[in-house]
Amino acid sequence: MKKHQILAIAAHPDDVELCCAGTLALLSNQGLSVAIIDLTKGEMGTRGTPELRIKEADAAAKIIGASRYNLGLPDTMLNNKRELQKEIIRAVRLIQPEICFINAENDRHPDHGHAHKLTMDALFYGGLQKIETSHNNEFQKPWRPSHIFSYMQDTPFEPDVVMDISETMEAKIEAIMTFESQFNVKPAEGEKSTYISDPAFLEMIKSRARVFGHQIGATYGEPFKYHGGPIPLKDLSPFLSNKRVR
Ligand SMILES: [Zn+2]
Repeated sequence: MKKHQILAIAAHPDDVELCCAGTLALLSNQGLSVAIIDLTKGEMGTRGTPELRIKEADAAAKIIGASRYNLGLPDTMLNNKRELQKEIIRAVRLIQPEICFINAENDRHPDHGHAHKLTMDALFYGGLQKIETSHNNEFQKPWRPSHIFSYMQDTPFEPDVVMDISETMEAKIEAIMTFESQFNVKPAEGEKSTYISDPAFLEMIKSRARVFGHQIGATYGEPFKYHGGPIPLKDLSPFLSNKRVR
């Protein structure tokens, strides 16, 4: 693992693609260094094997323009315990991101909410000197990111920020479709269709991006919640360079 300015953390490989791949691809295109950490291998998912999902995840990361790591934490058992927090803290202290994107606070899949809490706490505790972690037999320096956003998953919320991803929507869909074992698959004989394998699921993803894009006067958008109080500003340049068209 090496330093990156932007870090997206997710419970499962494919969470990032569905929820913030457009934003990550955009930031990568703008010259920022982007990393993705999948907490689990998604080994409890209905379709595909963990090995296949890792392969798919790596291919998707190439499309996004990000480095990708997997912590191998236990799928469906993301308890907010110090032991698991430390796995995230160790990684974050190596990557030293300024901005993090994390799972939604409340969602249909309980792992997403658990991952949110676990990640939020790990990102905070990572800034405390007395929480000790080591890498290559050396104690790590504390690190806390400046900004944390959570991305929208299944359950909608009122976003604080919508990123205009019109430029990278195609890359987002391409990255999602890389997960061939999960999306848009016809069930084989005797096999059940899952919630996400139905082609209607992908249509929903596209429609949502269209709806949030509309809210900011763009074609496609990705919504986020900002954590940690009001967004700090030193000037109004974000407002002057982002005129609302509607
Ligand atoms: Zn997930």
